[in-house]
Amino acid sequence: MLLIKRMNVTVVGAGSAGLLSALVLKHKIPNCIVTVIRDPNEPVIGVGEATVGSFMKMLNEDLGLNMDYFVEKVKPVIKYGVLYEFGKNDFHYTFDNAFDFQSNDKSLPQGFDFEGGNYGYTEYSKIMMNKGKGEYSGAVHVDNKLFLEYLENMALEKNIIFIDDKIESIQKKDDIIISLNDKYYADYFIDCSGFKSILSDEKYVSYSDSLVNDRAIFFRTKTKEKIRPYSHAITMNSGWLWVVDHSQGYSGNGYVFSSKYITDEEALKELEEKYKMKIKDYKTIPFKTGRKERHWVGNVITIGNADGFVEPLEATSLMTILQSIRLTSTVLEYGDKKGDLIERYNKFINELYDTIRDFILIHFCFNDRLDTIYWRDYLKRIDKLPKDGIGYGVLDYYLKNNTHILFTNKYYEDINPFSLDGWFQMYRGLIPTEKDRKKILEGLK
Ligand SMILES: Cc1cc2nc3c(=O)[nH]c(=O)nc-3n(C[C@H](O)[C@H](O)[C@H](O)COP(=O)(O)OP(=O)(O)OC[C@H]3O[C@@H](n4cnc5c(N)ncnc54)[C@H](O)[C@@H]3O)c2cc1C
Repeated sequence: MLLIKRMNVTVVGAGSAGLLSALVLKHKIPNCIVTVIRDPNEPVIGVGEATVGSFMKMLNEDLGLNMDYFVEKVKPVIKYGVLYEFGKNDFHYTFDNAFDFQSNDKSLPQGFDFEGGNYGYTEYSKIMMNKGKGEYSGAVHVDNKLFLEYLENMALEKNIIFIDDKIESIQKKDDIIISLNDKYYADYFIDCSGFKSILSDEKYVSYSDSLVNDRAIFFRTKTKEKIRPYSHAITMNSGWLWVVDHSQGYSGNGYVFSSKYITDEEALKELEEKYKMKIKDYKTIPFKTGRKERHWVGNVITIGNADGFVEPLEATSLMTILQSIRLTSTVLEYGDKKGDLIERYNKFINELYDTIRDFILIHFCFNDRLDTIYWRDYLKRIDKLPKDGIGYGVLDYYLKNNTHILFTNKYYEDINPFSLDGWFQMYRGLIPTEKDRKKILEGLK
């Protein structure tokens, strides 16, 4: 009898990166034995409540889950985009290909006017997510705890094994991990241990010279009467504030700032002044921005905060996690006996992170709403936008040609998760007039 060895993969960590990774692996490679090991005394980071436009589609396709059940359990709020109170004018960034529907009056924001009603968790929200085709799509706000509970229940249903234990030792030969704690053996190990990244000593490429924020103060408020079906991003003295409504009766609020410019106490004071109330129940979260130089080395793949983190602005992490594990599973399924898929994977993920970094950088560089040192310094950091990247290419195009979509196919590459539309919406919101564009164009020469 021919015995075929089943692939054995161990995931370390049970935050959203670990649970999503385990579920995608099991879905893509059903006969794979997937084990999740988590330290019961090391809590998950507990943030990650907004998502990008491709999120529901990815969740549907990559996890193969019943999306009706997901909506019933997690009660997400549909997110049509982001309202930016950034720069000279407030503007909407919509996820609905706004420039496909350009009206004659090009000065108006397109496709985003939902102030009139409650589009939170309602039947309407559900219909909008699956667009009546039985296929869910779009972005959502999720309650982090409910989301993780849902993922864990799904994982248990799919026979994913959970072990509560702290990984304290790694047995390695060159780049290959043989076992963990001298007792956990696997063919591949996925490091989803958060910012600690306990399985990988790969070099870290910091983004701190272009993205300076490194802390967030996170707290909840009672949701106002209407649930807003979009995220808010609001300029603060030394950073920005997110406000995200949930169907569980609260809004998540987070001031993301840089410790180089403001202390925790000053940030809290600024928030209290803005909200006109004492904020007692809050969490301060330190983070670093950057990515690993390589994401797959030997038999170890890093995913989630263990692998890289850009910024909460644009809420890209859950999408990056799904993109990473989708590709990892495909390579594992396909095998990489002779080819260079792992090198290509590493290059692809680098470009994905770097493109997100550049997209986020432009949000800061062109924001001239506030005249604080933080924002004045940011105006100068435009030189951190690489001249050979997508961001610079679209900026150059936009400054010279506005948003007419001609000769721009190269910017539609898969590596660009925002599509040309996303870049244009940001540039259009941040640099609205021809006069502004000319001024910046002159400055860039
Ligand atoms: C301020 C802020 C806001 C954010 N907002 C968003 C957002 O809106 N949208 C979005 O997509 N993303 C957001 N993110 C990113 C978000 O954190 C990630 O998407 C997500 O939570 C991934 O976390 P993780 O699973 O990598 O790590 P964690 O949640 O930190 O999980 C780590 C896991 O590893 C385990 N572990 C650690 N050490 C060991 C050990 N020695 N042995 C065994 N197990 C171990 C822990 O027990 C835990 O289970 C935000 C991040 C920050 C910092």
